[in-house]
Amino acid sequence: MLPTTVETKCSTLGCQNKATSRCTGCRDATPPTVYCSSDCQKRDWIFHKKYCGKKAYTFDMTLVGSRDPVITRSFEVPSWYTFQELHYTLQYAMGPWQCTHLHEFSFRGERDPFTYNDDEKLKILPRYLYEDDFGFSMPGQPAVPKEWEEKLLLSDVFDPRGRLHGKVVQDGEISPLMYTYDFGDCWEHELKYKGEKLAREARPLFTSAQGCGPIEDCGSISGWEDVKAAFRVPAAQRTSEQRYKVQWAKDVSGLGDACDPFKEPDVVQMNYEGRWENHLQAYKLASARA
Ligand SMILES: [Zn+2]
Ligand SMILES: [Zn+2]
Repeated sequence: MLPTTVETKCSTLGCQNKATSRCTGCRDATPPTVYCSSDCQKRDWIFHKKYCGKKAYTFDMTLVGSRDPVITRSFEVPSWYTFQELHYTLQYAMGPWQCTHLHEFSFRGERDPFTYNDDEKLKILPRYLYEDDFGFSMPGQPAVPKEWEEKLLLSDVFDPRGRLHGKVVQDGEISPLMYTYDFGDCWEHELKYKGEKLAREARPLFTSAQGCGPIEDCGSISGWEDVKAAFRVPAAQRTSEQRYKVQWAKDVSGLGDACDPFKEPDVVQMNYEGRWENHLQAYKLASARA
């Protein structure tokens, strides 16, 4: 039971009653899941059971080389997510981007399991490299079956009891996880594992975000800096090349005149459940077609 002085509303959607008890399956979660009655708790269970008592992992992500401002995202993600779902989370976090290029996960550090470990078990933790729509693949780097990324859970690596835990640890600290997207523009993301907590939702939740994600195919960090520079120049003073870049950004982003490379991401909007769900469905469909 909650202390009677705590004025907390029942967690069941649509119920405005004051809560009198908290879910015992996740009693230490913040914010707590609380109910006014056992009826309400029963009604909510179909939603709440998806994350009740389960773990989420927190990560700080930085887009390597980004500046003015450095592009960062901090988020928590379900521990039961696959690496493929983490890939979708990062696509969503950065644009949303469209999953149209190759991507790869790898661990940075001396004990990079891909190159330094002969353990048979690690054969299931490969570099993930997909062919894009054009059948393009990197020379010397074999494409890897999609199923591996779909089957490998984050908890396999980041949970102390995970089947691959310890394989990617160096000096007690987990090596940064690197996520590279688009081997043309080569967007390198460094993901620092920060820890675990009780899940608040069965989906990613962003806690902070800085810097507008680059528009895809803008030509890497330097190309994105050129786009931003063009936008900084008053319209009447732009060179023809700068006018072209501004128009390109407006067209490709699909935002038209609302395109603004300095617009800071809105964490509240990023956390809208429906918005995430829509993108997830689109990513899954695109991936099934590829
Ligand atoms: Zn209620
Ligand atoms: Zn619970």
